[in-house]
Amino acid sequence: MKNNTSNFNNIPFQTLYSNEMITARVRELGLQIASDYIEKNPIFICVLRGGVYFFSDLTKAVPIPIELDFIQAKSYVGTESSGNVELIKDLDADISGRDVLIVEDIVDTGRTLKFLISHILSKKPKSLEIASLLFKEGGEAVGYPIKYVGWNIGKEFVIGYGLDYDGKFRNLPGVFLYSEE
Ligand code: 5GP
Repeated sequence: MKNNTSNFNNIPFQTLYSNEMITARVRELGLQIASDYIEKNPIFICVLRGGVYFFSDLTKAVPIPIELDFIQAKSYVGTESSGNVELIKDLDADISGRDVLIVEDIVDTGRTLKFLISHILSKKPKSLEIASLLFKEGGEAVGYPIKYVGWNIGKEFVIGYGLDYDGKFRNLPGVFLYSEE
């Protein structure tokens, strides 16, 4: 029996993480990140567009001074990885010598993140860490430690809380398992 999002257009997807669960986990991660970055004036980078809600909630849950910037890469079409990663929007800030945290929605094959990590490292930050709301089985191929993870998940395709299916469903308040039925 599926839970449904009856308060959200009766969309019958199975809930993986409700908005309440996400809020609680984001609060924990925020406090952990704040204690790691206190007095470092870090710069947090939102990976558009999927990271937008996680980034928005996480940055508000980090009660220390931080700066924000945005980057966008593209690597996915529908539920299939296209295999190529392309930079669509670069950072505006100069991050050389800065403590940088990339905030991602999900690491799947790790291809996008691997591309972003090498792009950002080429700008010579002082440190670089990653926060990802979700980490899919197999994401280890990224070859870089993901220091802050909301949840580890299996290979299923998920939507909501920033994650889309062909541009839709990003604004679902929780994370749901996508199914065609
Ligand atoms: P990766 O390069 O790690 O394979 O995947 C990167 C991007 O693919 C993610 O940032 C996300 O936009 C998309 N992606 C990967 N897995 C999923 C998924 O389960 N659901 C959705 N909606 N997007 C995904």
